[in-house]
Amino acid sequence: MRPWNFSAGPSALPLEVLQQAAAEMTDWRGCGMSVMEMSHRGKQFTQIRDEAVADLRELLAIPDDFDVLFMQGGATAQNAIVPMNLIGRAGLGKADYVLSGIWSNKSHKEAQRYGDIAIAGSSGTDTVINGVSQAPWTWYPSAQDWHVRSDAAYLHLCSNETIGGLELSELPDMAALGAARVPLVVDASSHFLSRPIDFSKAAMVYAGAQKNAGPAGVTVVIVRKDLIGHALPICPSAFDYANVAAAGSMFNTPPTYAIYMAGLVFKWLKRQGGVAAIEAANIAKAQALYGFLDASSFYVSPVHAASRSRMNVPFFLHDESLNAEFLAQAEKAGLMQLKGHKSVGGMRASIYNAVPLEAVQELISYLQDFERRHG
Ligand SMILES: *Cc1c(COP(=O)(O)O)cnc(C)c1O
Repeated sequence: MRPWNFSAGPSALPLEVLQQAAAEMTDWRGCGMSVMEMSHRGKQFTQIRDEAVADLRELLAIPDDFDVLFMQGGATAQNAIVPMNLIGRAGLGKADYVLSGIWSNKSHKEAQRYGDIAIAGSSGTDTVINGVSQAPWTWYPSAQDWHVRSDAAYLHLCSNETIGGLELSELPDMAALGAARVPLVVDASSHFLSRPIDFSKAAMVYAGAQKNAGPAGVTVVIVRKDLIGHALPICPSAFDYANVAAAGSMFNTPPTYAIYMAGLVFKWLKRQGGVAAIEAANIAKAQALYGFLDASSFYVSPVHAASRSRMNVPFFLHDESLNAEFLAQAEKAGLMQLKGHKSVGGMRASIYNAVPLEAVQELISYLQDFERRHG
């Protein structure tokens, strides 16, 4: 059996998807070519792209007034591509950012090159929530405390901070923030397709595929059509949403194999019962793991309970001198890539869609066993 993979990204893919890709590797459905070898403009790949878009639209119930784009450069490139496309709309030139961890801070830093950027809210300080003190970046700033400029071109937030292990359980209602006309732009990279997305609240959602939707190399951009067509003159043509949308994500050669793989993941998700079914499975996995961590005095979960991510679960051993032994024995037990991000330390279990409850249960057994031997 393959070991369980808790990597934060690139991360586990469903075994069925890998097996199907292997079976189709040298000859895609009798056409005599690998997907990697075929023209992106030919009828085979056009079909692969069309099915991927249609399946994604179905899975997330994406409204017709949104375009679905497949781009390159990862979520990191979107940190520049978003402002270049959106900040100049109606000559506004300004945008607001919510800071909740490493990824939203990176987005904010990059955006400063393109206009007047303000911080709408931040969790970069200590705080006290219900009598419990929380360290910086271990909680989401409450939407009630955000200050959004009513003439901002957009508000950006990261709805799942992969490194800190934070997730926003509900997108904000911009009207309630006094900014009804400000479009909400969401970096959903690390929980994309793990739960539904409310497109009445989000005007744009983007996600690098390699966390939960496929291999590295393709970035999914879902953007409301009225936001397209306002790119700054400095925006590279290949990164102008208007060009990418008009060309059906083929303004230049797209990452064909990554799109094909993401398409197989979309079909796998449909076979699992869709996003609602996978969300229920994700809730069960997260409850099992956090429930265990909270009941233990050997391990600690640093994130405020209301902000905990269902996808990325950071935790610490009280006695950090045991970290190396913990990781070495975990690998022997078939539990891979549990080491925390270097900026946070400790451990992190990423339990994406492709990581089943069985894997989480085996992780919990290992945690119990390690505690019994060292506690
Ligand atoms: C991984 C990640 C990124 C960066 O993705 P790249 O593909 O490396 O550019 C950005 N935002 C979030 C939330 C991520 O998890």
